[in-house]
Amino acid sequence: MAKLKIVKIGDETLRKVCRPVDKITPRITTLLDDMVETMRAANGVGLAAPQVGVLRRIVVIEVEPGEVYELINPKIIAFSGEQEDAEGCLSVPGKWGLVKRPMHVTVRAMNREGETVDYTGSELLARCFCHELDHLDGKLYIDKAERMLSEDEIEVE
Ligand code: ZN
Repeated sequence: MAKLKIVKIGDETLRKVCRPVDKITPRITTLLDDMVETMRAANGVGLAAPQVGVLRRIVVIEVEPGEVYELINPKIIAFSGEQEDAEGCLSVPGKWGLVKRPMHVTVRAMNREGETVDYTGSELLARCFCHELDHLDGKLYIDKAERMLSEDEIEVE
């Protein structure tokens, strides 16, 4: 496994629409492993392939430690409710903004075995599904934030 470099805001890669994966090759599974390692090393809860410079529709998420979602060609197939909370991004370091997202989200994706899988998440997981899938279409949360938070509004954990 290898830790990858995270692309930061200002880089055009983050604004591109990613291509679907048509075949799961060793390159793709290695990329998944490297993305998980990179996300963990950066203390993130999600990472999309364009954030490591790869324009493919691949996302990894780990909201609960040890519960990793690897999503290939993911699509949101259902959503409901609404939540508003602070959101950040490993490609936009040191900043947080208030973003409205659905409270419950179901995604359909391919796993590394090539099987079609559906996952439903609420609260933070639902938020991560939306945030990371947006990356695959070149969208960043700062595009849809109600407002950015000032430094004294950010709770240091
Ligand atoms: Zn992000």
